[in-house]
Amino acid sequence: MLENLAIIFGVFLIMEGVTWCTHKYVMHGFLWILHEDHHDHRLHESWWEKNDAFFIIFAVPSMILILLGTVFSVPYCWQIGAGITLYGLAYFLVHDVFIHQRLKIFRNSESAYFRGLRRAHKMHHKHLGKEEGECFGMLFVPFKYFRRELEAKRS
Ligand SMILES: [Zn+2]
Ligand SMILES: [Zn+2]
Ligand SMILES: [Zn+2]
Repeated sequence: MLENLAIIFGVFLIMEGVTWCTHKYVMHGFLWILHEDHHDHRLHESWWEKNDAFFIIFAVPSMILILLGTVFSVPYCWQIGAGITLYGLAYFLVHDVFIHQRLKIFRNSESAYFRGLRRAHKMHHKHLGKEEGECFGMLFVPFKYFRRELEAKRS
């Protein structure tokens, strides 16, 4: 039980690094065609963005891993799949719901952590183009963003 939780949590943490790399080198790289409409909303008319394809790109391997682990009892597979799925859920809640308000819930927060994440991601969105981005992470961003929110709270 504890071992399962440790693997799931470890995969969750690793996924932040995987996301950073994917965002910087793949989404702002050869798959920019799918990510572009997330940086320039004039490129999509419906609620959906081509960028949402990345949820499928991460969901398919996690589903396969969960199947391998549960149906075929391959060791560690369902735990890794569960870690990726939980990260995807957290990413969706923070990025799509809280920051971009795609669902009209959870619109504001007093937490310096969430406010810092939002500020950092807004910095990422200052750039409409593929090059010269910053703040590619999602649940972990440079400390200065958290520090500023903490200072704003105190004053
Ligand atoms: Zn981006
Ligand atoms: Zn959009
Ligand atoms: Zn965004």
